[in-house]
This record gives sequence, structure tokens and C-alpha cells, in this order.
Amino acid sequence: MLLGCCSAAKKFLAKLGSSALVDFKDEVRIVDESGEALSVKASLLPAPLHLAPSIIGTRFISTRDKISLARVMAGIARRNPGKEQTALDYLQSLRCPRVLVERVIEPVLISALNEELHQASARYARMVLTKILMGSRNSCKLGVPKAPLMQVIEGPALRYLCKRGREVRTCARVERLNIEGDHIRSITLAGGEELAYDYYVCAVPPWSLTEMGFQTPAAEEMTWHPIISAHLFYEDGNLDFDQACVMGEPFQWVFNKSGGFGQKFNYVQTVASAADNLIGFSANEIIHLADKAVTKVAGRRKPALKRAVLYTARRATFSTTPGTDAIRPTSKTHLGNLFLAGDWTDTHWPATIESAVRSGHTAAKAVISIA
Ligand SMILES: Cc1cc2nc3c(=O)[nH]c(=O)nc-3n(C[C@H](O)[C@H](O)[C@H](O)COP(=O)(O)OP(=O)(O)OC[C@H]3O[C@@H](n4cnc5c(N)ncnc54)[C@H](O)[C@@H]3O)c2cc1C
Repeated sequence: MLLGCCSAAKKFLAKLGSSALVDFKDEVRIVDESGEALSVKASLLPAPLHLAPSIIGTRFISTRDKISLARVMAGIARRNPGKEQTALDYLQSLRCPRVLVERVIEPVLISALNEELHQASARYARMVLTKILMGSRNSCKLGVPKAPLMQVIEGPALRYLCKRGREVRTCARVERLNIEGDHIRSITLAGGEELAYDYYVCAVPPWSLTEMGFQTPAAEEMTWHPIISAHLFYEDGNLDFDQACVMGEPFQWVFNKSGGFGQKFNYVQTVASAADNLIGFSANEIIHLADKAVTKVAGRRKPALKRAVLYTARRATFSTTPGTDAIRPTSKTHLGNLFLAGDWTDTHWPATIESAVRSGHTAAKAVISIA
């Protein structure tokens, strides 16, 4: 998913000619245990009032909580959190009622940060909330790819580079950075081939840097959270929903991809962010939880589940606990011709495609500044 506020990622897709492959939805639904939904949709009012009609008109939260929400949002806009504050501490300091945390704020933040609120840094939480809820009228839109990411990013990126005469090697694992004094002399690929360049931008995760022989404190100090995706295939029948965020379930998002990606069958993708608690569950238990989230959105009369495929990314995204900013490295390193990129570097964004794109720009600028 992409959010409307991900400006660098949107520009990146436009450059690749892929913008049309991401569908920015006008409406985002949060569904509770009874199937009641909050539909968040930008009205014609100017920001930050654009979401007010959605909130005022809903039965999802009480009138009293709506007034509290306005007060909390005003507090978020005014008050910067402390460096060591967690998102939950911050919300409590703003006297945010528990029901608002559970029904509105938590569903948004857990998937955006891949972190539980009692662990997430308040700074990241505030950034996401202000961008989504108080940004422009398009900021809160949810961009869902209409095609596999291979077709949205990788394929177009390869074509973009090759058209401009760049050499791209895929499936070429860098085994070692050959460091000589204060610079990198060359790299050695897994097959033994040695390649030398003027400058090197490493856009790999920190543990891969360690394996290549470059030490960064981030490799030791950053922690990572898993994301589990369950791909569910249902019998024929009506699955009448688009996508929704599901409150109070480990699988927070369900996307109805039936008929999409050129397929004819009922296919639903579900995603569990901050899925640490699910590691150790059996496949059947996880599939049951994913199917339960779909039932909340589609209703009990949905077709029977036929088949499921699970994908667990154990080190999916880095943890955004308080203090994370101090560990994220800048693009420049102590080696004159080595630069770092990747969502985990110091972009001030949580682990997202937006962060990855921004890190690429920063690294490119750093190279250009000395080249
Ligand atoms: C399951 C899952 C769901 C996600 N959902 C979203 C989402 O909805 N929206 C969003 O914005 N973000 C999402 N993210 C996060 C997003 O995928 C990352 O923020 C983004 O991919 C980071 O890009 P990157 O280029 O920094 O790193 P990566 O995408 O991790 O790329 C690093 C690359 O380095 C390569 N590599 C590693 N070691 C070597 C080596 N020795 N030699 C050569 N190559 C090497 C790897 O193969 C990999 O291709 C999700 C992540 C996961 C795991």
C-alpha cells in the first residue's frame, strides 16, 4: 500500500510510468467486531477540515468521542512529543480516550509503523497522524497496486535504467566489499567476479552489510518486526467488499483481489503487521485468524475457504521505538566512496517504500556532491 502523503514514492512511480497501476481509493473503511464501519473519506472542505464530515456523520464513535478526537488532533498539531515518549504515552498525555485509540488511531498506526503503540516512538506516530489526518485532501487516500509489484516497480525500473544505457545485474549477490584504507577498492560477487567502480551505493539491509565486511552499529542495535501475509482462496460466491482495516484482529488489513491480477477466482490478501505474537503459531491457527478478519468484513455468509498460502517476512521492517533516530545512519560513511541507502537509513520516515525512495535521493545527492 501507499498513502497519498507518500510524495516521493508517487513521484518515483510517475517517473517509471507506473502511476496508473496504483489505485488511490477515495474511501478507507475501519470495521469493528460487529461489522460496523467507519468510512473515512475526504470531503470538499479544505484540509484539515476535509475529514470532519466522515467523522461527524459516523455512528462508529460516540458524539463525546468525536469531540475528544477534535481536541486530541488539535493537541497533536500543537505539541511535539518527547524524544523518549512512546505513541501510547503521548496519546495518554493528550488525554486521548482509550476507545479512540482502539477504534481509530491504533488501526491506522500499527500498519503504518509495523509496531505496537506501547513500543512505537511518539515522534513517528505523530508524523503519520499529522500527514494522514491533517495533510492535504489526498494525503489520507490509500494506494493499492492493481498489479504485482514486479510489474509496478521492478520491471519498469529495469526498463528505465536499461533505456538510458545503464548496466543492471539481477541475482548477483555481493559477497564482499574489498576495503583498502579509507575507501572501497572493489566488490566481489558470489561467483568470485571482482568489479571496481568510483563510487558505491549499498542499498541492502544492515545485516547484509555486516556479511559483506562493513560494520555499522545499526546492524547490532536496530531490531526488526515480522509481517505475515495470508493469501486466501475461496469457493465461488459473492465476496462483496473492496478492502478494509479490521479493528482488534492480528490481521489488520484485508484486500479483495477477486478477479484482479487476471485471475478468475475469489482471492483475498490479508496482512498482519507487528506480527511478533503470531510467530510460533501453527499455519492452521494463522490461517484461521486471517479468515476471521475476512469474515468480519465480508460477513458470515461468505464462501468457504478453499486454500491458503502464508508468507512470513521475519525481518520485515525495522522497529520504530523511541531512540531509533539516533541509530539510523546517514548516507555518508567513514569510507570516502561508500554511501548507504535503504529505508532503514536516516530518512525520518518509518520503514516504507517512501523511506526507501527518499534514501535513494539522499545517497545520489551525496555522491554527486563529491563526484
Ligand atoms: C511483507 C511486507 C509488506 C510490506 N508492506 C509495505 C506496504 O504496504 N507499504 C510500504 O510502503 N512498505 C511496505 N513494506 C516495507 C517495504 O517493503 C520496505 O520499506 C522497502 O522494500 C525497503 O526498500 P529497500 O530498498 O530499503 O530494501 P529492500 O526492499 O529490502 O531491498 C534490499 C535489497 O538488497 C538485496 N540484497 C541483500 N543482500 C544483498 C547482497 N549481499 N548482494 C546483493 N543484493 C543484496 C535484497 O535482495 C533486496 O532486494 C513491506 C515489507 C514487507 C516485508
